[in-house]
Amino acid sequence: ENYHVVLAENRKLYNEVQDLKGNIRVYCRIRPFLPGQSKKHTTIEHMGDSGELIVANPSKPGKDSHRLFKFNKVFGPLATQEEVFLDTQPLIRSVLDGYNVCIFAYGQTGSGKTYTMTGPNVSSKDDWGVNYRALNDLFQISQCRKSSIMYEVGVQMVEIYNEQVRDLLSNDTSQKRLGIWNTAQPNGLAVPDASMHAVKSTTDVLELMNIGLMNRAVGATALNERSSRSHSVLTVHVRGMDSKTGTILRGSLHLVDLAGSERVDRSEATGERLREAQHINKSLSALGDVIFALAQKSSHVPYRNSKLTQVLQSSLGGQAKTLMFVQLNPDVDSYSETISTLKFAERVSGVELGAARTNK
Ligand code: ADP
Repeated sequence: ENYHVVLAENRKLYNEVQDLKGNIRVYCRIRPFLPGQSKKHTTIEHMGDSGELIVANPSKPGKDSHRLFKFNKVFGPLATQEEVFLDTQPLIRSVLDGYNVCIFAYGQTGSGKTYTMTGPNVSSKDDWGVNYRALNDLFQISQCRKSSIMYEVGVQMVEIYNEQVRDLLSNDTSQKRLGIWNTAQPNGLAVPDASMHAVKSTTDVLELMNIGLMNRAVGATALNERSSRSHSVLTVHVRGMDSKTGTILRGSLHLVDLAGSERVDRSEATGERLREAQHINKSLSALGDVIFALAQKSSHVPYRNSKLTQVLQSSLGGQAKTLMFVQLNPDVDSYSETISTLKFAERVSGVELGAARTNK
């Protein structure tokens, strides 16, 4: 088959990129064709167990129609939420050991970012995305460790829209019920000007996140429209006290559902839509620049170039661990967005693979 040719020809390249540089992990997730969607051609030619992905442009078959990409892991359309979480869990657990972790989903609108991060249906546990599973896991582990370390957990939830940070959990009754977590967070770990809520159980988290999702909808003419054009950031702060030594450790987890990465046709967008597009563009490229600078061990990391990178600063770089989900829509119509998403991934992971040549 075609992809065997591609694989053979790129064997050398593969060996060279076994280990992605930097401390960012990059997972690719391909969503299935949706029910009712006519089964068109897919752009996904091959998904390998060791993280390789070959994308083809079936509408333009030819010599240069194939490209090879390499990830730490590729999840195909049949991967379950649980499988995806199993590979995310070690990172989540390191938060309890005092690490700062940032997990974000990148991709065009409709590629499954919210599916991966939040899940399609919060009331069914099997459907839970990374966010709920992460919090659930943190509570379970902290419960197991409670004889030696006492943990406290605080949550913030904001939306970044047009370079403005909006608190999604302000002015609500949960502050009265759950209490405000006012432990000062040093090193700029807390998102400034956003309320911080004490949470003690997964139920508390579910309640808060529902409020956050409802607040996100307020003022938006159409929820889907608006939410695809803003970044949503759920921040979890953990403070643990060793009961023997009294030592305090702090960790944080940022869970980010990014705005859709699709390019907007400049000739068509005007007014508000154009402004939104420019802000999204600016913040996503700022994010790319920061991660690229970190991967290159550059002396200057340009955190100040966007609100998004300012908010995430504490969990990007230094000892922090980063995981990016690169979300893809398999549809041939999405080919050019798919390639641009993959190029972003290639850049931030510090690895360039170039075209995968075939003899076809
Ligand atoms: P985005 O957040 O990138 O705009 P969504 O998460 O809303 O995309 O996904 C678009 C649609 O595809 C939704 O109907 C969602 O339920 C569905 N979907 C996405 N990923 C998957 C998946 N892995 N399995 C099944 N359906 C999915």
